Amino acid sequence: MQETLAKVVDGALALEPPSRDEALWMLSYPEERVTELVAAVSRVRYEFFGNRVKLNALVNMKSGLCPEDCNYCSQSKISTAPIQKYPYLGKEEVLGRAAKAREAGAKRLCLVASGRGPSGHEVSRFAETVREVKSRYPELEICACLGILKDGQAETLKDAGVHAYNHNLNTSEGFYEKICSTHDYEDRTRTVEKAKGSGLSPCSGALFGMGEADEDVVDVAFALKAIQPDSVPINFLIPIEGTPLAGQTDLTPQRCLKILALFRLVFPDVEVRIAGGREVHLRSMQPLGLLLANSIFAGDYLTTTGQAAAKDLEMISDLGLVVESAKERTLPRERAGAVTLKEYSG
Ligand code: SF4
Repeated sequence: MQETLAKVVDGALALEPPSRDEALWMLSYPEERVTELVAAVSRVRYEFFGNRVKLNALVNMKSGLCPEDCNYCSQSKISTAPIQKYPYLGKEEVLGRAAKAREAGAKRLCLVASGRGPSGHEVSRFAETVREVKSRYPELEICACLGILKDGQAETLKDAGVHAYNHNLNTSEGFYEKICSTHDYEDRTRTVEKAKGSGLSPCSGALFGMGEADEDVVDVAFALKAIQPDSVPINFLIPIEGTPLAGQTDLTPQRCLKILALFRLVFPDVEVRIAGGREVHLRSMQPLGLLLANSIFAGDYLTTTGQAAAKDLEMISDLGLVVESAKERTLPRERAGAVTLKEYSG
């Protein structure tokens, strides 16, 4: 066991991802020995990201009212969860949230809107808001997450000052039809490609705990690797009452750590962010998660609340880690097609 672990860690340090068999082996690592896995894989985290933690803040720009049927989502047309529903937030509200995000040390502001994809009018309005935010907080990286993009929309966002576009693959191609019937996996990959093609930094990750098998976890990890994202958010399902996945509870803190360890090895020098479900599923093991991932969301998620920002900062400092400043590079070295570094050094 130790030999295989040393081999996959050495491979990642040389930027070689594990094989499919090694990836599956990692997911079957004995739960009671997961700290051994974390300790070994943390070498990769320290090698490429040192002791820095990138903080990100989320703003739910438009909530609920979505015609899609993603089973995990409280904002879908089939969800009966009692969430707030509202159309796009106004400029002043977003500026206020941006100010709070900067105060909390966030380097990236993720502006997320529910829905299949934005209308032309919504994109224009969004672009106007981004221009205002960027003129007041030029150092803040703006990431847009607006769903499936139509031709030309990514370019409009880029022109307005949007830095990155988030569109998660969520799960494997084979498992996708089990979680959504109103759009398919290819709609997702196409949007990531559109964002990349327009020069936006691609942000794409996954959601675990929906009943997927180890093979699906590995499939989505390698599918994401193939599209070369600059940042990879890892979500753990919060089974919200009123959604079809309300009763789903197959995640343990150890399982989450194994998934994070796998993603660290598949993406040794790419931002891996612990996103939704951190507090619920990692629980007291959250600090171990930060020995694998180099980025987290500070504050609340889309329709659920997160840990208080002060507690996150305390956890980071107790680990001997520091919050990454706006001037520092997240990606440690230039990679082919990596938009982020080119922009930083440009
Ligand atoms: S498209 Fe987005 S907002 Fe709509 S149901 Fe799916 S995840 Fe939720």
